[in-house]
Amino acid sequence: MTDAGAALPPLREVIRRHGLDARRTLGQHFLLDQNLTDRIVRVAGPLAGYGIIEIGPGPGGLTRSLLAAGADPLVAVEKDPRCAAAIRELAEAFPRRLQPVEADALDVDVRNLAPAPRKVVANLPYNVAVPLLLGWLRHAEDFAGLTLMLQKEVAQRLAATPGQPAFGRLSVIVQWLCTVEYQFAVDRRAFVPPPNVISAVVNLTPRPQPLAPASWQALEAVTQAGFGQRRKMLRSSLRPLGIDAAAVGIDPARRAETLSVAEFCALARLHAAQGVEATKAGWSP
Ligand code: SAM
Repeated sequence: MTDAGAALPPLREVIRRHGLDARRTLGQHFLLDQNLTDRIVRVAGPLAGYGIIEIGPGPGGLTRSLLAAGADPLVAVEKDPRCAAAIRELAEAFPRRLQPVEADALDVDVRNLAPAPRKVVANLPYNVAVPLLLGWLRHAEDFAGLTLMLQKEVAQRLAATPGQPAFGRLSVIVQWLCTVEYQFAVDRRAFVPPPNVISAVVNLTPRPQPLAPASWQALEAVTQAGFGQRRKMLRSSLRPLGIDAAAVGIDPARRAETLSVAEFCALARLHAAQGVEATKAGWSP
């Protein structure tokens, strides 16, 4: 930690002074163990030369670790005015480097807050973690990395490969755009207060290009159809879309959960092409 960091008050004192009794509606489960927050920061790799964005800094434990590792600039977006006040206080010790933003992260385009290349490093509030991630991935190429702590079950879905029980729509959409590395699980007792679920850290690195050509909309449609009835063969699960997997060399007797991301992209291209044909023929609105 820098000289400024060495003089900081203990996090428990920050919590007490700012009255940060945790609100479950805001997913508030704080990390007070600096060894753990330092470990999360190490997963993010080099910070020098990147604009770093933290969502939900809370009392600032992870924020302090990011600052100690050299994050500059570090933009910290916090919705809770009580936590935002604590972060503004921390920012006084790191003028210009730490930039607090009091806002709902769902409402802001974080790309406007920090310069490229940029990384997101965050212990996300559980209830908005997936919508936030999918929002960022709409512009995946604008992020160099996303290091996220989230519910373990969600982290497993992000990283799951074909044939694993957690493999589903989220795995396909995210892996189409990013490489995903599941890092480590974190015990409930590491948080104040402990959540009901186990957490885990994942590292997402957006690909320079999506894994294979496809449109987001078509990929959503084919994964929804396939995984909506995951035990059924593609022959019947894709029937509502009117596409035949055999047309792109995929055995219609297979189930969605066995398909690779590239195979889903092939189905998405088929669906998009047939959608155009269908529209031309006046079949669909
Ligand atoms: N980073 C801190 C830590 O690790 O101790 C706190 C993490 S806590 C799991 C989630 C944080 O996100 C809380 O500080 C909460 O107030 C904040 N938060 C919840 N919803 C938010 C939103 N929509 N936008 C920004 N921050 C939010």
